[in-house]
Amino acid sequence: HFFRRDMNEQAVRRLEMEAALREALDRQEAGCPGEDAPFELHYQPQVRLKPNCLYRVEALIRWTHPRWGAVSPAEFIPLAEECGLIDRLDSWVLQTSVAQLGRWRAAGIPVPGLAVNVSAVRFARGDLPDQVRAALATNGIPANDLTLEITERLMMTEEVGVHDALDALHALGVTLSIDDFGTGYSSLGYLKRYPVGELKIDRSFVKELDIDAANRPLVRAIIQIGEALGLTVVAEGVEREAQHRMLEAEGCAIGQGYLFARPMPAATLVDWLAGEGK
Ligand code: C2E
Ligand code: CA
Ligand code: CA
Ligand code: CA
Repeated sequence: HFFRRDMNEQAVRRLEMEAALREALDRQEAGCPGEDAPFELHYQPQVRLKPNCLYRVEALIRWTHPRWGAVSPAEFIPLAEECGLIDRLDSWVLQTSVAQLGRWRAAGIPVPGLAVNVSAVRFARGDLPDQVRAALATNGIPANDLTLEITERLMMTEEVGVHDALDALHALGVTLSIDDFGTGYSSLGYLKRYPVGELKIDRSFVKELDIDAANRPLVRAIIQIGEALGLTVVAEGVEREAQHRMLEAEGCAIGQGYLFARPMPAATLVDWLAGEGK
């Protein structure tokens, strides 16, 4: 009986959230929501470990609901995927973040590159490469400066349209990065079949790197796979200096995590760059 009530509450919350998400997206797309914008992008630095410098920033979406406050993307992104809103959401993120990179550069702020998360669901619609090309052209951004973070789930699909989209994006010059690498329980064969340029070591492997000795060989193996295939390796979730030192010792090129910087609004990133970011 308790279980049933719980299930109902969950179902109700889902329905409410779906409606709220749809409404928020309508408002955002209608333009100029200003201070009350439902969605905002935060940017988290990815830093080169040696020598220490900014490598690029990853755009991460934030949603503030008038009553619920901040809703985690870990909650609303999967929901957006299920209810068919992810295409619109990811399109907004792509357009907004590429435009932001253009504005930074026009203002003389040296942001070397941008990474954007793209849901596997988004690839099913064939227009992604065209949309990417248009966003880059409109804002005068070289394709080399854009990275799309995708998941292993996408690489496992047999859909021809997805392969064509990956090839077209690669042909444009965009870098494809495998997010959460090592968590997808997939075969590694896709790494040689598809034009992947980068691996992101999932936070779960980095989390206890300096605490549980079993993690180090795993992280080392991922870095070696990257080296063997000529892929850049990015470690995410770096929170402590001890993790940083170990990653550097293992030859990991790029790090991302609270140790370096949290995700932050565009304006704050400018201050960060002026100070510690260099
Ligand atoms: P992700 O792509 O793996 O992003 C990394 C997540 O780890 C972010 O959570 C980030 O804020 C968090 N993080 C970064 N450094 C640290 C650290 O040192 N320690 C800890 N504990 N966490 C850290 P966030 O922003 O809540 O995003 C969660 C997930 O939602 C993302 O995971 C991504 O899968 C998805 N997501 C976020 N924005 C978008 C988007 O625009 N489009 C799509 N499709 N998915 C998005
Ligand atoms: Ca990501
Ligand atoms: Ca990740
Ligand atoms: Ca993740």
